[in-house]
Amino acid sequence: MTAVHLHATSCAICQTENNATELYRANFDPEAFSPAVFSARRMPDRIHYRMVRCNTCELVRSDPVADPAQVADLYRQSTFDYSQEVENLARTYGAYLARLDRHGAGKESILEIGCGNGFFLMQARSQGYGDVRGVEPSRSAVELAPAEIRDRIVCAMMRPGLFPTGTFDAICLFQVLDHIFDPAALMKTCFDIVKPGGFILCLNHNVEALSARLMKERSPIIDIEHTYLYCPETIARLFSRFGFQVKETGGVRNRYSLSYLMRLIPLPAPLKKMALAALDITHLGRLQLRVPLGNLYMIAQKPF
Ligand SMILES: [Zn+2]
Repeated sequence: MTAVHLHATSCAICQTENNATELYRANFDPEAFSPAVFSARRMPDRIHYRMVRCNTCELVRSDPVADPAQVADLYRQSTFDYSQEVENLARTYGAYLARLDRHGAGKESILEIGCGNGFFLMQARSQGYGDVRGVEPSRSAVELAPAEIRDRIVCAMMRPGLFPTGTFDAICLFQVLDHIFDPAALMKTCFDIVKPGGFILCLNHNVEALSARLMKERSPIIDIEHTYLYCPETIARLFSRFGFQVKETGGVRNRYSLSYLMRLIPLPAPLKKMALAALDITHLGRLQLRVPLGNLYMIAQKPF
């Protein structure tokens, strides 16, 4: 077992370290640091760091957190296991991508940061985007990408220098921003590589959603993988602070199967296992529902 070093974090908007109020104490266990914990879409286990809210910006964050290099290593080793929901995710994300058309976005080039197996890149291509590019740290996810898209994906953590200045008409981040250690650095990189007049589309958890407010610490979003948690106001504040013009922000209705929703419900494990088995046997688990599960979206533009 590798030793875990915890570091103080700062508010990504105002950059202050201690100007924050504690929301939840850490229920942290060093055993939690395994690649399995950092696998996308695993069963929620409610392990989390101490969570605080900035007194000035209201941005929610984990504080302190483990060494970013150590966690980056875990992301690289993580497995990609949400294939059964990929079709629904592609449709949900595609619907939000279509909103960029209303703002007059160009379609020559698009980048997805944290693209997994590239399913959304295929979706973007089907919606008329020309040069589709992805960045994804998990090697096993990239290996699962269709052959025609795999060479469009850089297997790495997003960092400055991967793409030239002013490359993209659009940059997408789906369920990624919550996991980023240094959102300020990411904002600068995105601002640099998007074209003047280009767009950013984000979709991630909403810490002010009804489900999150009702479930509090038991919400699946209060999770060791989430270094920051946003609401429509704080995500708009973050992007504005780094020069973007926020065009739209609001709640998301996602398309999910009943089985997937059941996995997210906080039930004792044996009970959940029985319920999932019942849904599987009766095929009810495949039932498709569109529900506002507590995500937000935001569209921002780099000024011309
Ligand atoms: Zn702040």
